[in-house]
Amino acid sequence: MSTRHPIFLADHDELRASVRHFVDTELRPHVDDWEAKGFFPDDVFRRAGELGFLGLHYPEEWGGAGGDLAAEVVLIEELGQAGCGAIAMALGVQTDMATPAIAEFGTDDQKERYLRPAIAGTKIAAIAITEPDAGSDAAAIKTKGVRDGDTWRVNGTKMFITNGVRADFLTCVVRTGEEDGHRGVSLLLIDTDLLGVSVSLKLEKLGMRSTSTARAGNRCRSPR
Ligand SMILES: Cc1cc2nc3c(=O)[nH]c(=O)nc-3n(C[C@H](O)[C@H](O)[C@H](O)COP(=O)(O)OP(=O)(O)OC[C@H]3O[C@@H](n4cnc5c(N)ncnc54)[C@H](O)[C@@H]3O)c2cc1C
Repeated sequence: MSTRHPIFLADHDELRASVRHFVDTELRPHVDDWEAKGFFPDDVFRRAGELGFLGLHYPEEWGGAGGDLAAEVVLIEELGQAGCGAIAMALGVQTDMATPAIAEFGTDDQKERYLRPAIAGTKIAAIAITEPDAGSDAAAIKTKGVRDGDTWRVNGTKMFITNGVRADFLTCVVRTGEEDGHRGVSLLLIDTDLLGVSVSLKLEKLGMRSTSTARAGNRCRSPR
């Protein structure tokens, strides 16, 4: 009798075998070394994109596989077998934290510039919510965005940002309205190569050492 959970179908089994092969041959042999060094190569994103693993539940129109969330579960379950949590966390941020809002609410231009390359693994994404003085209370964030013509001026600092050291863009939670608390908050897409954006050197952690966790903002002094 099959022990497969009813949410998984034959297609998911095929996907599971492909991800497992990737993990067995291209990740697990290296993770101890990457954890010891505290960094895994950006090529892991590019390779995962090439194999189609970064867009499993995104529309084909933007380079995704048009699959369901169960496919994403398969990916994360199998990445979890890599021998360190860092890879699953870093790729999971790319596929399920920094990009879903772009797919759901983004303009075609934003999807072209951010979603498509994130799915291909040619751009690395980070989600920036946490702040030094807000922590888990997202309603207390202070990073402020003010309209300036057809752009925004953003001031603030974000903390503990997974993929932060190498991210090409941040999906950043910013206070754009006057209201306090959960209201008046927007998601802004911020290119990290913009003048005024700075990212700290990698923060040291007890575990998941090879994810590039960083402090980011325009009041953050350290060079990339
Ligand atoms: C490895 C790693 C990766 C991360 N990646 C990201 C990322 O990519 N993007 C991002 O935005 N953030 C990221 N974070 C930040 C993470 O989401 C925060 O650490 C988390 O929100 C907790 O914030 P804090 O550490 O300041 O703890 P605090 O907010 O100070 O909380 C400390 C403790 O107090 C409790 N607590 C807090 N407020 C209350 C309250 N009002 N009532 C009762 N209990 C309370 C909390 O539950 C917790 O147990 C990452 C963190 C880590 C460690």
